[in-house]
Amino acid sequence: MSKIYFTCSFDDGHIADLRLAELLMKYNVQTTLYIPRACDWFSEGLSEKEIRLLADVIEIGGHTMTHQVLTNISVEKARAEIFDCKAWLEDVTGKAIHSFCPPTGRFNKQHIALQREAGFTAMRTVEMLSHSLDSIKKMGDFVILPTTCQVYNHSNLSYLKNNVKRMKFVNFLSVLKLFNADWEAMSRNFINYLHTNSVSQNTDFYFHLWGHSWEISQYSLWYPLECFLKNISEISGIEFVNNAHLAELVRQRKQHGVVDVY
Ligand SMILES: [Zn+2]
Repeated sequence: MSKIYFTCSFDDGHIADLRLAELLMKYNVQTTLYIPRACDWFSEGLSEKEIRLLADVIEIGGHTMTHQVLTNISVEKARAEIFDCKAWLEDVTGKAIHSFCPPTGRFNKQHIALQREAGFTAMRTVEMLSHSLDSIKKMGDFVILPTTCQVYNHSNLSYLKNNVKRMKFVNFLSVLKLFNADWEAMSRNFINYLHTNSVSQNTDFYFHLWGHSWEISQYSLWYPLECFLKNISEISGIEFVNNAHLAELVRQRKQHGVVDVY
C-alpha cells in the first residue's frame, strides 16, 4: 500500500529546540536538528550537554561551526566549517553525524564535494514545495533533500520566487491550488493532496516540514504547530522518518530504478 513519508528538520540549535523536541516526540514525529556550534543571530544556544541528550532520541545534523554562509567565505574556510562541525558534533554526541544543512541554504558544487569528502551522506536545502521521491537528486550515495513547507507564513510570491530561482516552476504550478498564506492550512492542504494522489496513483510521496524553533517562538506558532502535528499523527498511511532515514530510502529506491546525476 502506498504511503506518505513525513520528515521534518529545524535549524540553528536555539534553546527552544528543547520545547520543540518534546512536542515532536509527544506525537511520535521524527525530526533532524541542524545545529551549529554558535549562531550570532542569538545568544540562547543549546549547551553541549543538551545536544548530547537530544542526540539520544533525535537525529542531529551539521550546520557549520559558526553559521557562516558558505558562499560568502573562502573554500578553505568552508572546508573547516564543514569538516570541523562534523568532528565537533560526533565528539559531543558520541554518534556518527550523517546529514548537513548549509546556513541560509546557499551552497555550490564545491561545497557538496567538501561535504562528501567529510563523510556526510545527505544535505538538506531550503527549496520548498518538493514532494516527489523520484525528484530527489543524488550524487553517488550523497542525497540532496529539498523541503515542502516551512513553519512560517510565507506569501505565495515567496514560494514562487523560491521555486523560480531554482528553475522549479513546474513544482509551483502543480501545487498552485494548495497555496495559503497560513503555513498550517497550506501544509494540511498539501498532506490531503498527497494522500489523495498516493491512493489514486498507488505512489509514495514525501512531505518535508522545516523551520526554526526561535521563529516559532517569535511568531507565536507553537499552538498551530501542535494542532498540525496532532492532526497528522491521526492520519493513516503516513510514516514518520528523520532526514537520514529519508535519504536512505531514496538510495534504496534509486538502486532499483533510474539513477539521477545532480
Ligand atoms: Zn541556520
